[in-house]
Amino acid sequence: MRSTYGTTTAIRVGDTVSVLSGKDAGKRGTVERLVAPGKVVVTGINIAKKHQKPRQKMNAGSQTPTVDKGGILEIATPFDLAKVAVVCPKCDRPVRIKSTRAADGEKRRLCGRCSTEFPRKVVAK
Ligand SMILES: [Zn+2]
Repeated sequence: MRSTYGTTTAIRVGDTVSVLSGKDAGKRGTVERLVAPGKVVVTGINIAKKHQKPRQKMNAGSQTPTVDKGGILEIATPFDLAKVAVVCPKCDRPVRIKSTRAADGEKRRLCGRCSTEFPRKVVAK
């Protein structure tokens, strides 16, 4: 796992984000991946249609090949991190994130509007 993505962001995999600009402006999705440098893949956002022949392929980070049936695939493609903002579950709108360090030394992410602490996402391994 790479620790840096070429940019600093408070956005984490699993966050619900809102798209601020571009063709998907106003849509919401879940962060699937952070991509260097400064890009993000969000479920259902920035969909590209790809015309694919049937084939087997190896996925990065996976030992088992997947079989693509081919046809027209709709793939979420990376786009600029600056175009998304995390949605606060309490405010129900895109917010900036405040970062603080709690007494135990752990970093916490707070909503920039209401200071609600964002729940820590447990990403399945
Ligand atoms: Zn909030």
